[in-house]
Amino acid sequence: MLRDRFERKVTYLRVSVTERCNFRCRYCMSEKPFSWVPKENLLSYEELFAFIKIGIDNGIEKIRLTGGEPTTRDNLDELIAMIHTYAPHVDIGLTTNGFLLPEQAKKLKRAGLRRVNISLDSLERETLHYITQKNVLDQVLAGIDAAVDAGLSIKLNSVILRDINDHEILPLFEYAKGIGAQIRYIEYMENIHATTTLQGLRSDEIIDVLGRKYSFIPIGKESAGPANLYEMVDGYRFGTIEPHRHDFCETCDRLRLSAEGDLIGCLYFEGAKSIKQAIRDGNIDQATKILEEVVFNKPEKNLWGIENVEVSSRAFYRTGG
Ligand code: SAM
Ligand code: SF4
Repeated sequence: MLRDRFERKVTYLRVSVTERCNFRCRYCMSEKPFSWVPKENLLSYEELFAFIKIGIDNGIEKIRLTGGEPTTRDNLDELIAMIHTYAPHVDIGLTTNGFLLPEQAKKLKRAGLRRVNISLDSLERETLHYITQKNVLDQVLAGIDAAVDAGLSIKLNSVILRDINDHEILPLFEYAKGIGAQIRYIEYMENIHATTTLQGLRSDEIIDVLGRKYSFIPIGKESAGPANLYEMVDGYRFGTIEPHRHDFCETCDRLRLSAEGDLIGCLYFEGAKSIKQAIRDGNIDQATKILEEVVFNKPEKNLWGIENVEVSSRAFYRTGG
């Protein structure tokens, strides 16, 4: 069992399979990076799997594939199948912008994928085009339909930005409820790779808008997850993810692996240790030692809630969000 120095159990590994993306969301990768990491510097699926196995053998119970856009890396189903075959009990999820799901949803489900979180920030063609810098609405909605058809469990992620999509809190909620998917409003996390003028809405402002039309009660944090959940009388649940809250990190159970093999203790901070050489040498003891060290040294909390130091230099598309 992996435990950090604050006695938090770490059971959740997020794996970024690529930093590349087919969108340019203004809050994440507002411009194409000066250069991509060369392909030979990335871990192959076999190498990623070799580390994932070590994680599972040390108590990782939940794995999420992310990116960049994970579905842009060829044959993602092969990595899912490797993990699923090795440990069918492990809960495998995917975070995606949905664009390539029309062609991939069924294949990914067949390989062992259970759940998918799809990012959807707007139901208006022009607004989504503005945010992602690409005309994608129809294809993303088709991707959501494909995930429903494939029988995947779906959540929707929405980042609400002032004067951009803050008039869509209710339409997004109603769309998500209509398809039986939990929506989670993620507070915008300030970072140097985003368009500088962006301003995110805080969760209390979002809850206030929803509360003017609907009744619901707070039911606390989902088990071992970051979202604060709310429930309506008909049982529909939705959530907010509030990294600016002072107690957000108290229940953090996660670790992140980048596509290059950097093991990252916290989304906010630059600190990371590479497992690449240990994995390429087949040195399981060394990779396990690095894993234990990064877990042990997980920072206590992010600095998003702290005035004047709240911009992170970490790239979400590299760390995996
Ligand atoms: N490309 C996939 C996608 O967009 O779902 C997966 C990677 S993306 C980095 C993972 C999640 O991080 C998405 O839900 C995205 O909305 C969120 N995200 C990215 N940058 C963010 C930011 N600055 N603040 C809040 N959420 C962010
Ligand atoms: Fe790509 Fe996801 Fe970042 Fe948007 S949020 S640019 S879809 S990685």
